[in-house]
Amino acid sequence: MSVTEAPAASTDENPTFASLDPRTGAEVGRHPIHDGAHVRAAVAAAAEAATWWEELGFAGRRKRLGAWRKVLVAQLDRLAEVIRSETGKPFDDARLELVLAIDHLDWALKNAEGVLKKRSVAPGLLMANQAATLAYRPFGVIGVIGPWNYPVFTPMGSIAYALAAGNTVVFKPSELTPGVGVALARTLAEAIPESAAHPLLTVVTGFGQTGADLCGAPGVGKIAFTGSTATGRKVMAAASQNLTPVLIECGGKDPLIVAPDADITAAADAAVWGGMSNAGQTCVGVERVYVVDSVADAFLAAVTAGARKLRVSTVTADGDIGPMTMPSQTDVVRRHVTDAIERGGRAVVGGADSVGETSVDPVVIVDVPEDSSAVTEETFGPLLVVNRVPDVDEAVRRANATGYGLGATVFSDKDGDTIAARLRCGMVSVNGVISFAAIPALPFGGVGDSGFGRIHGADGLREFTRPQAVARQRFALPIAVTSFQRTARGMSALVGLVRTRHGR
Ligand code: NDP
Repeated sequence: MSVTEAPAASTDENPTFASLDPRTGAEVGRHPIHDGAHVRAAVAAAAEAATWWEELGFAGRRKRLGAWRKVLVAQLDRLAEVIRSETGKPFDDARLELVLAIDHLDWALKNAEGVLKKRSVAPGLLMANQAATLAYRPFGVIGVIGPWNYPVFTPMGSIAYALAAGNTVVFKPSELTPGVGVALARTLAEAIPESAAHPLLTVVTGFGQTGADLCGAPGVGKIAFTGSTATGRKVMAAASQNLTPVLIECGGKDPLIVAPDADITAAADAAVWGGMSNAGQTCVGVERVYVVDSVADAFLAAVTAGARKLRVSTVTADGDIGPMTMPSQTDVVRRHVTDAIERGGRAVVGGADSVGETSVDPVVIVDVPEDSSAVTEETFGPLLVVNRVPDVDEAVRRANATGYGLGATVFSDKDGDTIAARLRCGMVSVNGVISFAAIPALPFGGVGDSGFGRIHGADGLREFTRPQAVARQRFALPIAVTSFQRTARGMSALVGLVRTRHGR
C-alpha cells in the first residue's frame, strides 16, 4: 500500500481519520490510521533503501537533496497553503517556516561531507605505529515523530540532517497535520524519482499508537522525537525495549531578560513577537519576561501598545495570529490566565475573556507569583507574563528556576553574552528573538525537561550517525606489550616512558 496516498473511505480493514481546518472545523483531508504491521513494513523498506542511499556517498546525496530543495522552493506557496489549512496560521507565517526549513536543508546537504567524512586522528606516542581514523556512519533508518505547531520546520530539523548524513527516514507527523507530512514526502518523491524504488522519506499517519509502533519497530536506528515532555517520556520508555537511541526535543518555558541598558523598543517588539507569534504555540516562544525595575514602566508601555494591536485571523482573512491549532489547548491557557489573575497578577492586555472556544486574543499579565501555573508550566498560547525584578542577578535566578531549559532571550547593550552564559538552557538570542533557530550552523536543543540531543548544525548532523573508530597497524613496535610474548624489560621501558612523560 502506498503510504503517501489517502484512501477514499474508512473501512474496518483500512481505518482512516480526518484532518480539520482549525479556522472552520471543516475536514481538509483523510488519512490512514497505520497499524504496527504497516509501520514495521515501512521501516523494513526504508532499511533496504538506506543501503542504497549510503552507498551513493556524499556527492550523490548532495545532488539529490539539492533537487529536493529546488522542488520545495518551486512549491513553496502550495505547501504553505497546506500548512495554513491544517494549523490555521497566517499564510506568511507558513511561508516563513518553509523558508527556514529550506535554508536548513541547504546547509545540511552542503556541510554533511565536511562534518562527517572519514578523517585521520593522531594515534599518540604510545600507539605511534597505528594509523587512526574516525568515520561517522549513518544509523540506517531514523524514525522521526513530529508536532503540529511548525509541521515542516520542526521535523525537517531531523529529516534534512538525517538524510544528509546518509539515513533514510520514516516520519510520523502529528495527527493534526498529517496532510503536511504527506505533502512534504510528495515533494521529495517528485525531486528524487529513484525514491519510488528506494523509499527515502516514508510517512506513516495515525494517532499516538502509530508513533508508539514506530518507537518499538525493529530496525529503527534512532528515534528523533519532538513534542511534549510527557510524550517524550513515553517515547524513551518504548525505545528502551530495543535499546534504540533517542533524540528528545520537548517543550519550554523560555524567559526573556530585559537589562537596564537594553534597547527598550526592540526588547518590547521581541517580547510581543516571541510571545504571540504563531498564537504562542512555539516551543522556543517567550512565555516569561523579567524586566529590571528601572526600565519596567517604559518596557510595559511598549509591550502593551504592541500586543493590543494584534488581530486574530478570521475565516476569510489572515490576521497577525491564527486560532489555536489544537482546540483543547484553550483550556490550558484559560487555566493559566485565571490562576495568574486570582493570585494577584494584573492583566494589562486582555484577560480571562480573551480565551475563546477555538482562539485566544493576546493576554499580558504583570506581577504574577512565581509559583503560579502561568510561570511554571508551558502555556503554549498568546499569554505573556511580565514580572519586575530588582536587578539582573534576580532575573537570572528566576529564569533558571524551572525544570525546562530550552531557549532564552536577553536584551542588554553591553552584558548580553555574560548574562547568556549564566542561563541554564540550550540556546540564547541576544538583542533579537528566536534568532538561533534560523542559523543553520547553530545546534538546537534543550536541557532538563526540554530534552536532550541536538538538531541543526554540525552537532545535528553527527546526531544521526554513529562514530566508527578504526586503528590500523602500520608496523610492529619493537616492544610488544599487548601480546603474551611481552617481556618484563619491555613493560619497564613502557612504564618508564609514562613516568617521564606524565608523572611530573
Ligand atoms: P505531543 O507530545 O502531543 O505529540 C508529539 C508527537 O508524538 C505527535 O506526532 C504525536 O502523535 C506523537 N505521539 C503521541 N503519543 C505517542 C506515543 N505514545 N509514542 C510515540 N509518539 C506519540 O506534542 P504536540 O504535537 O502537542 O506538540 C506540542 C509540544 O511540542 C509542545 O510541548 C512543544 O513545546 C513541543 N515542541 C518542541 C519543539 C522543540 O524543538 N523542542 C519544537 C516544537 C514543539 P499524535 O499527534 O497523533 O498524538
